[in-house]
Amino acid sequence: MKFRIGPNGVHLFDRLSGLNILVDELRPKEAIWSTAPRQVSIALTNVCDLHCAYCYAPKHKASLHTDQVLGWLKELDTEGCLGIGFGGGEPTLHPDFVNICKRAAGETQLAVTFTTHGHRLTPQLAERLKGSIHFVRISVDGVGRTYEEQRGKQFASLLRGIESIATLAPFGINVVVNERTVAELDALSELAQEVGASELLLLPQQATSTVASMDGVVSRALQGWVSNYVGKVRLAVSEAGASGLPTCDPLPDERGLQAYAHIDASGMLRASSYSPACVKIEDAGALSALKRLRNTFEIKRETQS
Ligand code: SF4
Repeated sequence: MKFRIGPNGVHLFDRLSGLNILVDELRPKEAIWSTAPRQVSIALTNVCDLHCAYCYAPKHKASLHTDQVLGWLKELDTEGCLGIGFGGGEPTLHPDFVNICKRAAGETQLAVTFTTHGHRLTPQLAERLKGSIHFVRISVDGVGRTYEEQRGKQFASLLRGIESIATLAPFGINVVVNERTVAELDALSELAQEVGASELLLLPQQATSTVASMDGVVSRALQGWVSNYVGKVRLAVSEAGASGLPTCDPLPDERGLQAYAHIDASGMLRASSYSPACVKIEDAGALSALKRLRNTFEIKRETQS
């Protein structure tokens, strides 16, 4: 079991079972808190073979190198990060994806997860990844025709991908909530239960250059759906767009860059994939970049006050 020290206590985590234990009787001094964010997402590549309108991934060509990624992971692991989530673009399109996952699982204690559109997850790829992945997130925006119109891919092909993923690791379903998909949340929760997903993650749509963020009507419909939810699959919601929803945060004092950071496919460290503020990860490493990004936010706060 790995442990992490933070403002809410000592956090124990087992990447194989997903078990989290928070020893909150202990309140360690700030000087010994873990310095890495609890979770870090890494866009391995900007490349994707789909063209979703609400995609926020940058469209310029960029990919990270295996050794560069592994170096950052080892630093983050040592400094108390618990898990890493590979994304993109479509992470399975990174030419060294399998090797990166194997090395991340073998050379660190981090939980290794990735988010995928699911269409490239053949039984062969799932077999090669077995043992190196602790959780998979699959993007499913609506069912049947809605899905096909949103993602431009056959729903049947997605279901085949989900079958392969189910043989690989525990998995969850991600849904971008917008005016189309909000009406299909019942169907999505039924699907999640049928295919054996352990989580349904709601991602209220954020504005991109082509779409607006979720509006008030959709937001109220989502709130109504969540408060009446009686499904068996656990619900989760992204922090962006969670306002108004009943959420439970066991680590309320672990905020901002203590809780989460994102590294994009150009090697820039950000507070989230949407955040415009960023710093380049130089040869000094990810933790040094994290310090610079924290300083940037401090200076901004001071000048605003
Ligand atoms: S599958 Fe994901 S990365 Fe690819 S275009 Fe759609 S939202 Fe963007």
